[in-house]
Amino acid sequence: MIQITMPLNFLGTVYREIRQSLVDMGEMFDLLEQPSEVSDKKDAPELAINGGEISLENVHFGYDAERPILKGVSLSVPAGNNIAIVGASGSGKSTIGRLLFRFYDVGEGALKIDGQDVRDVTQTSLHDAIGVVPQDTVLFNDTIRYNIAYGRDGATMAEIEDAARAAQIHDFIQSLPEGYETAVGERGLKLSGGEKQRVGIARTLLKNPPILLLDEATSALDTETEMEIKDALARAGEGRTVITIAHRLSTIAEADRIIVLENGQIVEEGTHSDLLDRNARYAQLWLRQQSEDELVA
Ligand code: ADP
Ligand code: MG
Repeated sequence: MIQITMPLNFLGTVYREIRQSLVDMGEMFDLLEQPSEVSDKKDAPELAINGGEISLENVHFGYDAERPILKGVSLSVPAGNNIAIVGASGSGKSTIGRLLFRFYDVGEGALKIDGQDVRDVTQTSLHDAIGVVPQDTVLFNDTIRYNIAYGRDGATMAEIEDAARAAQIHDFIQSLPEGYETAVGERGLKLSGGEKQRVGIARTLLKNPPILLLDEATSALDTETEMEIKDALARAGEGRTVITIAHRLSTIAEADRIIVLENGQIVEEGTHSDLLDRNARYAQLWLRQQSEDELVA
């Protein structure tokens, strides 16, 4: 009996881990196209979080040796700061996110969190420290409570409500006749895009990750949904280090710092107003998006 139970328990654990990682991966859009190709060092310690400072030190990386993608990127994000990375498609923005998760190892240089090289700590602890903010949340055919609690096994009702409050979806849930027990998904209440995303944000916040990573989907959200989640995202980021890989510049104008990536190199950085004053790369991107918005408006 014991011989049978043990492997089954083991399989259960592995299955849960795989399932969790698939869900997280599904939420990361194009960020997580690739399975992890790296493994933990022998006796690697867990990542010890102390605020969640992120630093890239002269990072070089290419998916294959012939084609460099990141060419000496150095970047320091102080704990609790909110930075945005912008740049043309293919400039290497999502690659930075993939390296942060250590789906690949850097070719040269280092990527550190609170001074610890991501290659030196367990991947499990690394992944636990980084929450991914979904842009397209998959809801299960179950209650709202279950859908939020999925972010962490064994969460209490008070913790679930706190996460929902931070994601600015608590009041909406409370207004439903069955509250947190309301069935959602295909066979239940249909939520709007913005409501679904806020449920997804609550799910991520329940993990209470010190670092949040948002890789915006290429397809622009409709303006209404964007407005609906903008405040929720700002609130969700309080007290955390936030990296937003942005396609829509309108969502990141308030970032502490904006990094402009071009061909795998940082070509400009500063606040939105610094960069507009410089009247160079970022200012061009901004003007172009403004006129596109006018065209669709
Ligand atoms: P961005 O997010 O800025 O649009 P990415 O970081 O996703 O760009 O990609 C940068 C470059 O790396 C692109 O040219 C892309 O085609 C290439 N790339 C991305 N993933 C892979 C991969 N798994 N294998 C080979 N090349 C890749
Ligand atoms: Mg991308």
